[in-house]
Amino acid sequence: MKKILKKVLILGGTGDAVKLAAQLANIPQIEVISSLAGRTKKPSALVGQVRIGGFGGAEGLANYLKENAIDFLIDVTHPCAGQITNNGAIASQLAQIPHLMLVRTQWEKQSGDNWIEVETVEAAAQAIPESVKRVFITSGRQQLEPFWQRSQTYPDTWYLMRSIDPPDIELPNSKVLLDRGPFNLEQERELLGEYQIEAIVSKNSGGAATYAKIIAARELGIPIVMVQRPAMPEGEKVTSIEEAIAWLNSRLKAF
Ligand code: NAP
Repeated sequence: MKKILKKVLILGGTGDAVKLAAQLANIPQIEVISSLAGRTKKPSALVGQVRIGGFGGAEGLANYLKENAIDFLIDVTHPCAGQITNNGAIASQLAQIPHLMLVRTQWEKQSGDNWIEVETVEAAAQAIPESVKRVFITSGRQQLEPFWQRSQTYPDTWYLMRSIDPPDIELPNSKVLLDRGPFNLEQERELLGEYQIEAIVSKNSGGAATYAKIIAARELGIPIVMVQRPAMPEGEKVTSIEEAIAWLNSRLKAF
């Protein structure tokens, strides 16, 4: 049996976190624990240990880090998951362990893109042009309330909602598609055409897995209400799995 020397906690809930856990498992003498919030009923299979559920704020996370003798904290949560990312930054300081944030580069507007940029999902619901009657919501099933509110004012808008698990709120005049990315361009073109989508709501997630809808919207001249990311805390950041592994390896060498 290999001797475990160092423990890495990954704050996960993303495809990148799944990939990172699998790659870190190949580094000898590392024990990988992935943490999930528990939002998805059937999360993607993860290599290594998994713990599920909130920690109880930054202090709860700091206690977890200390009690479980975690040596490194790597945050690979979604770029819009601002609360857990702030908690990770505070907790790693409290526990005095190295901390890294893997943050995918955000999508940048290109020629032909018609983005309506907003700060929050609430603002996104309000920013959907009044003339738009068929909206594709890809900003997540947890934040549907603003669209429900909008549907009270504009009852003739139809919504297509895509998420991994069914949403708790049922929008009137809507259809739910249960699906997990990545999504390819052909699929997205077909979907926008089939449902005659006139606007998309998206978070600026970055990365390739869900970028095809942005290209398809560009091709069709469809506007995207794009929810910007929250501000990130100070701290060490990388944009790729390879850089995260290099960061960890360079610190392991110091031991
Ligand atoms: P959030 O608003 O930043 O966090 C809310 C609370 O959820 C945190 O304070 C923490 O509870 C708990 N939490 C979040 N991520 C956790 C994790 N990886 N492990 C343990 N607890 C976690 O988070 P969110 O936006 O709801 O996202 C929840 C999860 O879904 C994250 O894993 C994220 O990567 C994933 N996700 C989010 C989005 C998005 O658009 N926000 C998209 C795709 C995937 P305590 O304070 O009790 O510790």
